[in-house]
Amino acid sequence: MSNRLSHYFKSLMLGELLQGMAVTMRYFVKAKYTMQYPEEKIPKSNRFRGLHALRRYANGEERCIACKLCEAVCPALAITIDSDMREDGSRRTTRYDIDLFKCIYCGFCEESCPVDSIVETDIHEYHFENRGEHIVNKQQLLAIGDRYEEHIAAARALDAPYR
Ligand code: SF4
Ligand code: SF4
Repeated sequence: MSNRLSHYFKSLMLGELLQGMAVTMRYFVKAKYTMQYPEEKIPKSNRFRGLHALRRYANGEERCIACKLCEAVCPALAITIDSDMREDGSRRTTRYDIDLFKCIYCGFCEESCPVDSIVETDIHEYHFENRGEHIVNKQQLLAIGDRYEEHIAAARALDAPYR
């Protein structure tokens, strides 16, 4: 009963509304700051999920073993993989495509990868100029991995204690 009474009086006094208005007023008079993007950029999390990359080991061997776990787990059906056996008997992808228009950047592919091959970099400034360029293939993904490996490895090392 006392709860109902206090709720009644609280609603009568509009306490929450006044609290909300106080927050609004505080920010209304506060000095504004506009980020001058792209000249200015805010720091990004090590976990930022942007453009994908396929990584290699230090000896140049591609990490991916064509297990297709990433393809199976992808909720957007954005990954397409074909695989075959190499001359040395190991299994490798012959096709690894990601449709970046379908991708929802959920990160499930990198979470599922047993060999840390497919990763999402913190690159978010990319664009397409021609039809079809939104589908990135294995060579392009490996090239992104090669170019940003140092950065990718550093970000993953920083995030490792939280995984
Ligand atoms: S980030 Fe998510 S949606 Fe995008 S390819 Fe990976 S699993 Fe699929
Ligand atoms: S990227 Fe990883 S999860 Fe996907 S097929 Fe290759 S090894 Fe398997």
